[in-house]
Amino acid sequence: MFSGQILQNYVNGQWERVITQDYLPVVNPATTEVLAQVPLSGAAELHQAATAAATAFPGWRRVPATERVQYLFKLKFLLEENFEDLAQTITQECGKTLVESRGELQRAIENVEIACGIPILMQGYNSEDIARGIDEIMIRQPVGVAAVIAPFNFPGMIPFWFLPYAIACGNTYIIKPSEKVPLTMHKVMGLIAATGLPPGVVNLVHGAKAVVDAILEHPVIRAISFVGSTPVAKYVYSQAAAHGKRAQCQGGAKNPVIILPDADMTMTTRIVADSAFGCAGQRCLAASVAMTIGAAKEEFREAIAQAATERVVGYGLDPKVQMGPVISPESKNRINDLIQQGLTEGAKPLVDGRNTQISGYEQGYFLRPTILDAVNPKGEIAKTEIFGPVLSLIHLNSIEEAITLINSGQYGNMACLFTSSGAAARKFRYEAEAGNIGINIGVAAPMAFFPFSGWKESFFGDLHGQGHQAIEFFTQTKVVVERWPQNWSRQF
Ligand code: NAD
Repeated sequence: MFSGQILQNYVNGQWERVITQDYLPVVNPATTEVLAQVPLSGAAELHQAATAAATAFPGWRRVPATERVQYLFKLKFLLEENFEDLAQTITQECGKTLVESRGELQRAIENVEIACGIPILMQGYNSEDIARGIDEIMIRQPVGVAAVIAPFNFPGMIPFWFLPYAIACGNTYIIKPSEKVPLTMHKVMGLIAATGLPPGVVNLVHGAKAVVDAILEHPVIRAISFVGSTPVAKYVYSQAAAHGKRAQCQGGAKNPVIILPDADMTMTTRIVADSAFGCAGQRCLAASVAMTIGAAKEEFREAIAQAATERVVGYGLDPKVQMGPVISPESKNRINDLIQQGLTEGAKPLVDGRNTQISGYEQGYFLRPTILDAVNPKGEIAKTEIFGPVLSLIHLNSIEEAITLINSGQYGNMACLFTSSGAAARKFRYEAEAGNIGINIGVAAPMAFFPFSGWKESFFGDLHGQGHQAIEFFTQTKVVVERWPQNWSRQF
């Protein structure tokens, strides 16, 4: 009998126990301890939340923007006050190191800060005298009820790519965290409630596919932000469109980095190792394929193999640890199978991180960093998202060949180049078909005042999360043309 925390939904300003027999254990992937039980809500619970949000909307949109952001200022303060507790929760349920957890929380807070600029950011514009005596103005109004469907790998940050902008613009909101890592948002919801926001402005519903389907079908929900794997992103995007909703859906990735012979190899190795193995490779911006050009091959191969071997793997709460476990046994098995497939396709195991046991955490879902050398560019392993600490090496003769290979791929989330040539950097920036580009840097999530710009099958929609594009997404434009009779004063 489980005696720990049973999570509840937060609807209309109060915690609600979910009446269901369907619960999933929330498991610490390093220790395999069961941290809580998460209810799998259904359409009925989602309907309650959608109704609460719809009821709160008319009042909330009338609160002046300058007053709405006061709640966000309070939230920033509460997030900072509870920073360490939230970071530990992220590490416990998701597995990443404490440094990585703190990093994602910092990014969450930055989005709150930017959304505090809404009084100026959501202004419209106007033109006087578009014809004699006629003025035309554009005003931005909130779209209504919006929802976020989040993935497991950034439990603290990803809902904040959307939530602060949505409520600052006057919308009301529903958060659907990943059922694998629901604890962080559960705690954050408590902090949102403590800001004193009116009931129904922000609601939280736990669950999995059934809740997602209910969000897609519910008539009062007007806008959906999704982040997760490409097949589900495509599904959510198409179903949202079929139900007349606006949607922004961020999908999976297969991120390449090109290393030219003139790159600073020490810096490049450090950055690529952090990008490929940070968060155990469970980042949508993780480097997944390193393409070395010409003479870069030998030096980079040796250096990255050493960096991979030296990386300290273990429980993320231990400050010495540089890489934690992957999220689940299923994930570990899938990654092991993909490594084997790469070897079957002809790759060489330069560093093999399978069959890993961490002392004291023998049951944890650990792999060590893995490097597959001489990967076949046409093979499955060069194209499929692995979402684990596995780096594939491909050796090519020119930057043109590498850019062609990158542009032939299905995804377009991120691409990086390492070089000391400005001309090569400009060519790459100009030609690479990806929405986030790094030059001599591993792309971290863009700052809150820039859009998270995935392309191709890494993004379905028009307007991305964060910054100006988030404000466009969470508002609808209204254009007003006005003419007033000139003889008004004579009427009194
Ligand atoms: P996932 O697609 O399995 O789950 C994402 C969300 O969708 C969860 O809330 C889940 O409950 C829901 N869901 C899962 N299956 C569903 C289904 N069949 N129908 C309806 N809803 C469903 O993704 P994940 O494993 O949690 O996250 C990892 C994936 O997310 C990777 O592919 C990664 O690249 C991607 N990701 C992308 C970005 C980005 O910015 N592009 C950021 C983070 C993660």
